[in-house]
Parts: sequence; structure tokens; C-alpha cells
Amino acid sequence: MRQDFIKAFNKAADGSQLTRADLTVLLQAQAGEEEAKLFELADAVRQKNFGNAVHLRGIIEFSNFCRNDCHYCGLRRSNRAIRRYRIPLPEIVATAKYAADLGYGTIVLQAGEDPAYSGEQLAEMIRQVKEAGDFAVTVCVGERSRRDYELMREAGADRYLLKHETADAALFAGLRPGTSLAERIKRLKWLRELGYQVGSGNMVGLPGQTVETLADDLLLLKELDVEMAGIGPFIPHHQTPLKDSPAGDLKQTLKTLAVARILLPQTHLPATTAIGTLHPAGRRMALACGANVIMPNLSPAGYRQLYQIYPEKAGSKENPEESHEKIARLVKEAGRYISTGRGDSPKEIFKKSPDTWAGER
Ligand code: SAM
Ligand code: SF4
Repeated sequence: MRQDFIKAFNKAADGSQLTRADLTVLLQAQAGEEEAKLFELADAVRQKNFGNAVHLRGIIEFSNFCRNDCHYCGLRRSNRAIRRYRIPLPEIVATAKYAADLGYGTIVLQAGEDPAYSGEQLAEMIRQVKEAGDFAVTVCVGERSRRDYELMREAGADRYLLKHETADAALFAGLRPGTSLAERIKRLKWLRELGYQVGSGNMVGLPGQTVETLADDLLLLKELDVEMAGIGPFIPHHQTPLKDSPAGDLKQTLKTLAVARILLPQTHLPATTAIGTLHPAGRRMALACGANVIMPNLSPAGYRQLYQIYPEKAGSKENPEESHEKIARLVKEAGRYISTGRGDSPKEIFKKSPDTWAGER
């Protein structure tokens, strides 16, 4: 092992504060002993903070309309080749009821940035979904006004997922025309002020990204003190400007996840659908490198092929029951179990009642 790796690793192992330089070294762990040590430490940190529980978050992708034109995403407004849909509210509520029957503790309502929904309409959707079962609701509908976030929170939304995508402001502006990293971060701060549990995250392998950018991604997540961080590979979509860019590297994604686990011990980290798309065993590997959450797709079968943020998205040819069963098997095979709780942030639980923490894992 290289001397600088040993030095950074020892700091990570004894819980010392990690600098940007340390993170950069860890993110470049070499194949063999260095990677093995990094993954082992991340797994131990996950075990210590979350035990063997895996939290499931059932996603309902309720609209694939989007006003934005992100260079990486198949839902971008310039993509005229996809059929657009909005799932009618009664169907969303029926899906949520089905999730309740399966024992889900969280529903994620995700969509493109679809201006057809007013803040009030989104709030009404949240109210009805909350009535369908005893779950936490995570909303993931992009950048909205502060008032809209407020309305959704008042309607019962517990968490909001807004990935910062990349901490490199120039790269962000280039890949997301008309938007800025500063505006994104401003919203993440609003969400915090409004009392949401906040989720963010980034893609690994965006063209132009460096290992230092990844270190900055992790430092930003730490600064924002996020309750959840979605870290997954970029996957090219053939109907986007990035169609010829290579996908994010599997090992680099796993290393980023592992370093995130070490830097953010109490943050929920999903084994993303994107990593499951990149490699058939991707989610299993992610669970072994620090991940403790999976987000199965519960969108009704007729819609999921149309929610193509990238091609061949894992689970896009299944129905909700198949997706759930596949994930349940995966969790069992990984030697873990499905949590029966809502999977709130340990930070939240700890704040409310330090004594119940161990039981809620
Ligand atoms: N429109 C909302 C937004 O952008 O925040 C929520 C939906 S968007 C489809 C959800 C996530 O998909 C984004 O945060 C982005 O990280 C991810 N995504 C989009 N295109 C991707 C791609 N080609 N590869 C991997 N992830 C991608
Ligand atoms: Fe729209 Fe989100 Fe895709 Fe960007 S990533 S085009 S905002 S759905």
C-alpha cells in the first residue's frame, strides 16, 4: 500500500477529520489491498451505525414531463422521442396503498420538473398519499419556489431529495442550462429551514469531473449535513448530448460510496438503481461498501418504461410486485434484513429520544 494511502486511511479509521487531500487519496484507492481496506472500513462503519437493517423507499415516478434540458437526462425537454405521461392522482394513491400493504415505511414521489403541478396540487397529492398508509413521504420534484416547498411541508412531506449533481459550479452550469449550483444550494438550505429531512447527492463519472470534484461533492454533503445522499454512476442516454460519453466507472462509484460512508457515518446511503443498471450485482456490491437503503420502483408497469432518465433502467421491465420481490431477495442474499420502521434519520431519532435509537435501526 502507498504511504499516503496508509496515512489517510489511518485518519479515516480513527475518526479524525478528513481533508480534501485525504479524501482525494482515499477516492483513488488502488485495486487490491487498498480497495479491500477501504470497503471493509466502510462496511464496519455502516454496521456500527445502522446494523444490518436495509430501509426500502418505494418510488412512484408520477410524471416524466420536464421544463429543464439537463444534458445527461433522457427526460430533458428537448427529447421529443419519448411519450410523456402524468399518472392520475387516484392511481398514485392506489399505488401508495399497495406499498402500505407490502409494509413500506417511505414513499418517494418523484417527477421531472413539471410546471403543470401547482404547489397546492403537489400538496394535495402528498396529503392523499399520507392518508393511504403510515409512511414518511419524500418528495423529489426538483427546483420550486420556497412557497411551494412550504405548502408541501405543511401537507405532511417529511423529506426532500434534491441532488446537487456536481459540486463543480462550472460543470453544473454547463450540464444544466439555465440553472446554477448556487440556486440549487440555496434551495437545499430552504428545505432545511422548513424542517425537511434533506437528501442530496451526486453522479459519478460526469464528463469533465475529476477526483477532486468528487472530494468536493463529499465535502458539500458534509457541510449541508444531509440526512440522505444518493451517489450513483452517470449512465449515458442515446437521446441526449452526452450520448457518446462513457458511463461512470463501477469501482469509482463504489469507492465514492465507501468514502461517503466514512465521512457521513449517520447519513442514509442508497444502493442506487443506477449502480444496479451499470452492473447486475451493482446494488449488492454497494450494500457491502456502506449503503443501507434501496429504492425499489413501485411505478405501475405501464409507465415505467417511459421514465427513461437513462436506458435499460434496472427494473423498468418488471411490475411493482416483481421489483419488490427481487429487492427482498437481494437484501436476504446480502445477509441483511428489511427494516420495518420508517427509516427516519438517526440524527432525528437521536434528537427526539437518545434511548430508542438502538431499537429503531
Ligand atoms: N427532476 C428532478 C431533479 O432533477 O432533481 C427529479 C427527477 S431526476 C430524473 C432524478 C435524478 O436522476 C437526478 O437527480 C439525477 O442525478 C438522476 N439522473 C438523471 N439522468 C441521469 C443519468 N443519465 N445517469 C444517472 N443519473 C441520472
Ligand atoms: Fe428534468 Fe431532473 Fe431530468 Fe434534469 S434531471 S432533465 S430536471 S428530470
